[in-house]
Amino acid sequence: MELNYQSMKVAHQAREADEQRTEMRKKSLLILIYHHLLGQGYVAAAVALDQETNGGVRRFEVSDNIDLEMVLMEYESYHYVKFQKYPKLIRRIAEAGERKYPTRSATKRSPRSAVKPLPEIHPSRNTNTGTGAKKPATSENGTYLAPQSSDFGLSVSSIKNAPAGECATNRKMTDVKGAIQDAVRGAGIDSDHMERLLKPLSGFSGMSGEMRELATIVSRDIYLHSPNVRWEDIIGLEDAKRLVKEAVVYPIKYPQLFTGILSPWKGLLLYGPPGTGKTLLAKAVATECKTTFFNISASSIVSKWRGDSEKLVRVLFELARYHAPSTIFLDELESVMGQRGSSMGGEHEGSRRMKTELLVQMDGLARSDDLVFVLAASNLPWELDHAMLRRLEKRILVSLPSSPARQAMISHWLPPLSCTGGVELRTVLDYKALAKEMEGYSGSDIRLACKEAAMRPVRKIFDALESHQDDDTDMPAIQLETVTTADFLNVIEHTKHSARNLIDRYTDWEREYQSV
Ligand code: ADP
Repeated sequence: MELNYQSMKVAHQAREADEQRTEMRKKSLLILIYHHLLGQGYVAAAVALDQETNGGVRRFEVSDNIDLEMVLMEYESYHYVKFQKYPKLIRRIAEAGERKYPTRSATKRSPRSAVKPLPEIHPSRNTNTGTGAKKPATSENGTYLAPQSSDFGLSVSSIKNAPAGECATNRKMTDVKGAIQDAVRGAGIDSDHMERLLKPLSGFSGMSGEMRELATIVSRDIYLHSPNVRWEDIIGLEDAKRLVKEAVVYPIKYPQLFTGILSPWKGLLLYGPPGTGKTLLAKAVATECKTTFFNISASSIVSKWRGDSEKLVRVLFELARYHAPSTIFLDELESVMGQRGSSMGGEHEGSRRMKTELLVQMDGLARSDDLVFVLAASNLPWELDHAMLRRLEKRILVSLPSSPARQAMISHWLPPLSCTGGVELRTVLDYKALAKEMEGYSGSDIRLACKEAAMRPVRKIFDALESHQDDDTDMPAIQLETVTTADFLNVIEHTKHSARNLIDRYTDWEREYQSV
């Protein structure tokens, strides 16, 4: 009896131990996959895995030198010993209606180093000022590098997947990309497919685990997927748009022209009152040029990553170079690049190191021919560190909207007839008079005022909607009151404009510091 009990107990313990090992195996597998993903540069996938396991994989590392590759190798050896041949590890899933194995010729590619030829243009006959003219489709000959050049990596966004685009570059890609593409071609694999699979971070040889973690942060918090702002979304600002195109867009689009004395500016400062469209301009550059866009709010970098901010900056620039052409947008520059020692009680050591790193990285860019542009924005340019200013050679004032621009904004946001949630909103507005009244308002102020004006009639129907829900009868047909000029003027009376008083200061600064 006693013996029987003992053996049952042993069997139970063995079963429990077995279950524990199974659990441990499952968990270890996830941890191995996590580290494998990181090691290969599938950062976004690793982050997703970590999130799905509630941070359960990040806190572990793999013991000894086990890794997934090793496990597979062991399996191959075992298979070889058992069957005298290596196993076939993977096989492609054929999709419905698809030939199982694509032929090599089906994956013909354009040469990597081919340059998009410039069209023949005779200046005397060319009436195109370049400021808003749409470019004809450029995918006709496919002789230049299509967006595949930066289509892999950090889950690079849909802007990169757009049709062979306007700003593809003839630049030689980084060696890592070249190597990957060569390898892909050499292997005769469907390269478009593989490029999305092959990840870039594995190309950063010697990248330590810590740097990889920072790269993860960059990809999660700083890398912006599709900014999706078009030039035509930016109202007014014709001069600023023209200068930005000249400084960044055309060098990406026509790199052959921008060499020697014309080599592109590496750093560009957009300055002016808050809410005037500086961020929009940066996003339009990224959208229209299909560049990888890294968006940093400088203050958040300092406060959130205080200790690591310097390393974060380094990784950011490395990634930007890797994904070139890239735009790095540093918002609120003055909050991190304020004049040294100007803050009370001296500077925090971490932030000083970060500033230095930013300067070093910008110098690195200036010396290289990488297509990486730093666009910085500041509302308070007079507070900027001079060493930083020197590196932002091109400075563009993004001023308050002119009267026609204000008029265009109001009619854009409050047209005579619009639809909100299936309900018609009508306006009868004297746009010109309102634009005149709104002198000194920024684009963002005007948008807010329009929103408030539209909200007023909506607010009036809330009571009716609420009481309707209570008595549960049929939904009444909703008729919003028309917004009139008088209503809008009333809104203006109650809204502030942010920067009218500062405008002289900007123009003074412009006079003193304008680059060209
Ligand atoms: P900032 O100059 O502070 O970077 P933003 O570009 O972020 O300002 O603009 C804030 C918001 O104000 C935008 O999202 C947009 O709605 C509106 N806005 C400002 N200027 C313009 C403009 N020129 N055209 C269209 N919208 C604008």
